[in-house]
Amino acid sequence: MKRLQVDVAVIGGGTAGLGAYRAAKRFTPNVVMIEGGPYGTTCARVGCMPSKLLIAAAEAVHHIEVAPGFGVHPQGETRIDGKEVMDRVKRERDRFVGFVLEGVGEIPAQDKIEGYAHFIDDNNLTGRRAHSNSG
Ligand SMILES: Cc1cc2nc3c(=O)[nH]c(=O)nc-3n(C[C@H](O)[C@H](O)[C@H](O)COP(=O)(O)OP(=O)(O)OC[C@H]3O[C@@H](n4cnc5c(N)ncnc54)[C@H](O)[C@@H]3O)c2cc1C
Repeated sequence: MKRLQVDVAVIGGGTAGLGAYRAAKRFTPNVVMIEGGPYGTTCARVGCMPSKLLIAAAEAVHHIEVAPGFGVHPQGETRIDGKEVMDRVKRERDRFVGFVLEGVGEIPAQDKIEGYAHFIDDNNLTGRRAHSNSG
């Protein structure tokens, strides 16, 4: 197994890991980021961002419902097309993830390790290769 000696090993390439990688690089070039799952961050892929896109759709309906209280009277029945709502959520989610992947793509390949990191002791990590990553 290939052995690497680094100053900083960042475990995880999510929001915190990407920030930690960039911060560490300001002090030493000898940094690796180890990612065991897909790149893109939990926040952009399945967390904050897609959930807020869905909430925004619900808020749009809510605004229509409360509009008469403001003297604004939308005409006709409010029709919610679930597929259209989810298509937009996914489309925008993919756009956000794309920005993150662009950033990951700018990280030199030699600084990115794919696999799940496990501590052997205080200063040594081992990695089990995970599925292929994008970015
Ligand atoms: C539905 C939902 C809605 C959310 N809404 C909000 C919100 O509105 N506001 C907010 O602040 N937060 C929200 N969150 C929480 C937010 O997404 C997380 O707090 C944030 O993404 C955590 O970032 P992170 O960098 O710690 O982890 P992540 O982005 O999850 O990154 C961790 C990475 O580490 C990798 N990893 C883990 N263990 C190892 C290992 N041993 N070796 C190698 N790689 C490893 C994982 O594969 C992953 O890619 C929400 C979460 C969910 C699920």
